[in-house]
Amino acid sequence: MGHILPELPYGYAALEPHIDAKTMEIHHTKHHQAYIDKLNAALEKHPELNGKSVEELLKNLSTIPEDVRMAVRNHGGGHANHSLFWLVMGPNGGRPLGRLADEIENQWGSFEKFKETFTAAALGQFGSGWAWLATDGKKLEIMATANQDSPLSQGKVPLLGIDVWEHAYYLRYQNKRADYVTAWWNVVNWDEVSRRFEQAA
Ligand code: MN
Repeated sequence: MGHILPELPYGYAALEPHIDAKTMEIHHTKHHQAYIDKLNAALEKHPELNGKSVEELLKNLSTIPEDVRMAVRNHGGGHANHSLFWLVMGPNGGRPLGRLADEIENQWGSFEKFKETFTAAALGQFGSGWAWLATDGKKLEIMATANQDSPLSQGKVPLLGIDVWEHAYYLRYQNKRADYVTAWWNVVNWDEVSRRFEQAA
């Protein structure tokens, strides 16, 4: 049966008005599902990879058989990235607290400065891709990746990510990626980001 689409922990309208219900529904049921279908189709050729999590596959891309390596990178990346994306968003945005808040302040001086730097990474990603807050287990870092490349394939653990593919915002924001990113800050689920941070530390 392979990889399956995770359910969202909230309704499609839960992130309104920042992210509209129609975008959420299409993004989840069509885009995310398509990555999963194509990942499963590729893995059919390699039953020895059955049972490995998509994160495991992405961490060890160089060991994936060459004939499906690009499919795992693109569609496996799409599956992993979107699975994280849904969970690091939620209807009750806010600010980071506790150890994560301290670490962000240590590294960027203030939460505002961190937001500014992360936003610049999201806006600066040319074409389709993602901006990330990630960690190597010691330090936090902001990074951007093209297409569906995952920080996991670079030895990093993604803690927070924003999808800047046009499909993530075009219905509501058209070509105005900056407006989407500004709105998105209102729906970041910092409890989940903190949980990932504690797990990775
Ligand atoms: Mn997407």
